[in-house]
Formats: sequence, C-alpha cells, structure tokens
Amino acid sequence: KSQLNGTYTFENYIEGDCNRLSRSAGLAVANKPGTTSFNPLMIYGGVGLGKTHLVQAIGNHIKATNTDKFVLYVSAEKFTNQFIESLRSNQVQDFANFYLLVDILILDDVQFLSGKDKTQEMFFHIFNHLHQAGKQIVMTSDRPPRDLVGLEDRLLSRFKWGLTADLQSPDFETRMAIIQNKMQQDGIDIPPQVVEYLAHSVNTNVRELEGVLISLVAQSSLNRREIDLEMAKQALRHIIEEVEAEVNLDFIQKTCAEYFSVPLELLKAKTRKKEVVTARQVAMYFAKEHTSHSLKSIGHHFGGRDHSTVIHSVQTVSDLIDSDKSFRGTIVELRKKFAGR
Ligand code: ADP
Ligand code: MG
Repeated sequence: KSQLNGTYTFENYIEGDCNRLSRSAGLAVANKPGTTSFNPLMIYGGVGLGKTHLVQAIGNHIKATNTDKFVLYVSAEKFTNQFIESLRSNQVQDFANFYLLVDILILDDVQFLSGKDKTQEMFFHIFNHLHQAGKQIVMTSDRPPRDLVGLEDRLLSRFKWGLTADLQSPDFETRMAIIQNKMQQDGIDIPPQVVEYLAHSVNTNVRELEGVLISLVAQSSLNRREIDLEMAKQALRHIIEEVEAEVNLDFIQKTCAEYFSVPLELLKAKTRKKEVVTARQVAMYFAKEHTSHSLKSIGHHFGGRDHSTVIHSVQTVSDLIDSDKSFRGTIVELRKKFAGR
C-alpha cells in the first residue's frame, strides 16, 4: 500500500507566486523520479500551506504514470512508530528491508525526527541506500533545514544534495483561485462578494481557509439558507478577534520595549535585569488591560511564563502606580499609545 490519498493532485494544486518553485520542482520530480538533480527534494513551509498536498500529488502522479514503481508515502511520525515497534518485536531487519524496496520514498514532516537519534540512524541508512540506487526521496519540513535542531549534521548535509524549496503564504489572488477551485470541486455556490471577503480576511493559511468554507457550507445546510455576506462575517468573527488580539499584543510588547529602551527579545527571555523586568511587567499589565488574552496566554507570549507570574506583574505595576508618582506618569503616557486600539 502506498498510503497515498488520491484527492491530492497537481490539477487541484493551485499555482501562485507562493508555491511556484516548489510546485515546478515537484512536477519535475514527478515526471522523472530519481533522475533529476532534485534528489532529495525537500519542501518546507509553515502549517497548512500545502506541503502534504504537494508531496502527495508527486506520489499520485508517479503512481499513475509508472505502475511498476513502488511509491511510499509515510509521515515521519508513523515511520518512527513503526521503527520503535520493530525494535520491540525484534524485527528491525524486516523494517529496514521493507523500506529498501521502495522506489519513491516520501517522508512527511521530517522535523518529527529531531532528537530521535536511533530513528534518524535508521533513516540515514535507508536514505543512503535508496539514493545510491537512484531512487527518489521527497521530504517535507515545517522549517528550513538550518533550523532543524536535533537532526544530525550528517543527515542535514544529505538534504543539501538535492533541492530545498519553500512554500509561502498565498497572496490574495491565489486565495481567490483556491476558494473558487474548491467551490467547483465540491459543487458549492457562494456569491462573488463573499468569496472576495473570505479571500481578503483569511490570510493565514490554506487549511484555515478551507475550514471556514466547510463551516459555511454546514451553516448553510443547517439553516436552509444560502451563504451570504452576513453568514460569512459571523463565521469569521472569532477568527478576526483572535488575530486582532494577537496584533495588539505584538504592538504592546514593541511599544513597551521601545519606551524602556530594552531589546524586544528580552521581554520574552529569562533575564532578571531590572530595566527588563520593569518593561516586561508593564507590557503584561497593558496586555491584560487592552487585549482579550487570558493570563495563561499572556504568559505564553512572554517566553512561556505561567499565569501566576502574570498576576504578580499586574499587581506589582498596580502597586507602583499607587505609590510612585513618576511611575504613574509613565503609565499614563504609555496608556495614551494604546487607547482606542
Ligand atoms: P501542510 O501539510 O503544509 O500543513 P496541507 O498540504 O495539509 O498543508 O494543506 C492544507 C489544506 O490546504 C489541504 O486541504 C490542501 O489541499 C489545501 N491546499 C494547500 N495549498 C493549496 C493549493 N496551492 N491549492 C489548493 N489547495 C491547497
Ligand atoms: Mg502536512
């Protein structure tokens, strides 16, 4: 079994500036597996940007055009679990032998291997064997290879033998095209101004865009109502609120760091230096006052501190406002910058 999902194809993988290089490298590999210089082909990019879709499309294309080739798609997580299971049951050799039979190996989310030395060693062995035999290797990662900490250098250096290409967030036009394609595929009817509104508002990743479409379709059939702008706005409300809260928190951190002349990174670091601690506490205070973030979430955005630290900071700032006149002036001045945001 190839473990491929036939719905992921090149035909329904919309091309845009965000994915042009990766897509065409993928097509080249799909047409001539193992014989281009793109071996291995490594596709990286953030969550929901289409890595799995693209590498599955490569696999599906090869399977359809070379019926004699053994194409195998596997997530790095599943690879790891299979390997561990083979250790447990004393069948490591069978495990290795199985992978050595593969003609096109697609390993998804390779970052999952980080810190798993034994699994990496096994993959290294399989990689070398397949590559030497002219078999194609395709991988994805959620970050560029240089940021794959916890992966062995000898493995990382192998990745450079081929081509590394990235996926970016789609631009407005590409998002429009993706929605339209999805509508056509699923036979959904959405008025043009709603499509435009969605493409405009959901600019994080494609998975989220699809999620909104799915919830709109469900809403529509549940209420026996056509999808309209009102419905779309309703569906997006919570997403937009989240994004706005995020933006405000960023702004607050930047403004406080600047005001107290401390580097922004230090607000999120462990430093206990007095200036930094003050700037951090004030930023937390305003985060509580001006955003809808929970204490837990605020702590998380300040270098993973827990909610009791946030409570303590807010209390310290409140106490200082009461006891220290010049500090109170500082807070009043800063608050003006956040008013109305
Ligand atoms: P990743 O693996 O990078 O997290 P996925 O490949 O799972 O992302 O993509 C998320 C969803 O977005 C999938 O349903 C996929 O079909 C869709 N998608 C992503 N990019 C595109 C694109 N360029 N054209 C059409 N659909 C896309
Ligand atoms: Mg994926």
